[in-house]
Amino acid sequence: MKTTIFWFRRDLRLNDNIALYEALSKKANVLPLFIFDEHILEELPRDDARVYFIYKTLQSIHNQLHSNNSSLLIRKGKPEEVWAKLLQEFTIDSVFINKDYEPYAIKRDAQIKELLHHNNIPLLAYKDQVVFEESEVMKADGTPYTVFTPYKNKWLSLFDSVDIKPMISYKNFHQTFYHFPSLKELGFVASHIRVKDFSLDVVDDYETKRNFPALDETSYLGPHLRFGTISIRQVIAQLSKENAVFFSELIWREFFMQILFHFPKVVSNNFKAKYDGIKWLNHEHDFQRWCEGNTGYPMVDAGMRQLNQTGYMHNRVRMVVASFLCKHLLIDWRLGEVYFAQKLLDYELASNNGNWQWAAGTGCDAAPYFRVFNPTEQAKKFDAQSVYIRKWVPEIDTDNYPDPMVDHSFARKRAIDKYKKEIIS
Ligand code: FAD
Repeated sequence: MKTTIFWFRRDLRLNDNIALYEALSKKANVLPLFIFDEHILEELPRDDARVYFIYKTLQSIHNQLHSNNSSLLIRKGKPEEVWAKLLQEFTIDSVFINKDYEPYAIKRDAQIKELLHHNNIPLLAYKDQVVFEESEVMKADGTPYTVFTPYKNKWLSLFDSVDIKPMISYKNFHQTFYHFPSLKELGFVASHIRVKDFSLDVVDDYETKRNFPALDETSYLGPHLRFGTISIRQVIAQLSKENAVFFSELIWREFFMQILFHFPKVVSNNFKAKYDGIKWLNHEHDFQRWCEGNTGYPMVDAGMRQLNQTGYMHNRVRMVVASFLCKHLLIDWRLGEVYFAQKLLDYELASNNGNWQWAAGTGCDAAPYFRVFNPTEQAKKFDAQSVYIRKWVPEIDTDNYPDPMVDHSFARKRAIDKYKKEIIS
């Protein structure tokens, strides 16, 4: 009997999963597959919290399938080699995937498509992780938007209602029980850092509470949207007109995704080339103090320690620490971006890159270079009682806490002068 393969990637759920739904609607023998990709895994520590979250999510999918007489096929390796082997093991009639828009994924999928094509097998790719993809939201002249507000207005004008696919039927799944490997067999160990469940209860007061880290009133959707444990359509379907600010954040996510899609050079380059003239100081010792949360600026240190200990940092604080690294310490945004990529549970290339370039002033629609966050004022405004700060920096009032590593007024002037002088006109 011919087999149809559905390949899970960043869409780790059975419900409202477009490509899976399409496969099950059209085919009779659908084998769900996940590949632990060695190209990605070889960069990660053995106790990576994201790998652990993926593993636990797959285990739950496997168990759901198992109780319906099916199971998940797990493989580990380089995708091109795994697929070459699958072609020998199965008589495959078609492969279904949801599209992934990151440069590495686009290249990987093109390579697999080519391999399948040589064997007369179609690779059917669907839009799933976004409401609008690729070139669906464009300016009247057919070019991509690089400024958020007009992008958002166009996005909203194209959006009327969300279409959620019904629950899938289990009867079309491949009826075989595959062994589900232990974490050890995959070369990993459990992480003590856990992904929190998301909550949409926060959306009604989001506008007034979202900027205050001590309130902790954000949705924690990040990792769930990143790995697809909830679909973007199911999130949006639960919002009302009153939730415009929250909705807007979800549009920022798609804005940065389309920036990455149309301008893949941003992965390693400034969006605005005129910033290529900036000679970052990149002092190793300064970078180390920032990473560890020992700068002597409580808001910065609280944020970095929250990140190091939990894999999460509140958005307001992310803006403060990113601005501090680029402007106060004159360290290249790319170093901060890599550090966040290693630590964030919700790490997502497009959003991380877009927000870092925003903070550094090098990005599309970025903060102007002369806007230098004052970390002390930010703390007064958004953590007036120091509740958030004291949670992460308990030694704040003792001799053990360092003096500010750089004076704010000096650093602000130094940054503005440097940017002014070195930006290529
Ligand atoms: P909520 O405030 O509840 O927002 C809901 C969702 O909206 C988020 O989960 C996210 O999908 C989206 N969203 C919110 N703010 C933004 C934004 N500014 N840009 C894009 N999408 C947004 N977000 C990531 O998902 N991955 C990253 O790697 C990432 N890196 C960042 C780096 C820096 C320097 C900064 C300043 C921000 C970064 N963000 C990133 C954006 C934002 O901080 C997080 O999305 C948010 O804090 C995650 O918490 P939450 O899910 O509770 O968000």
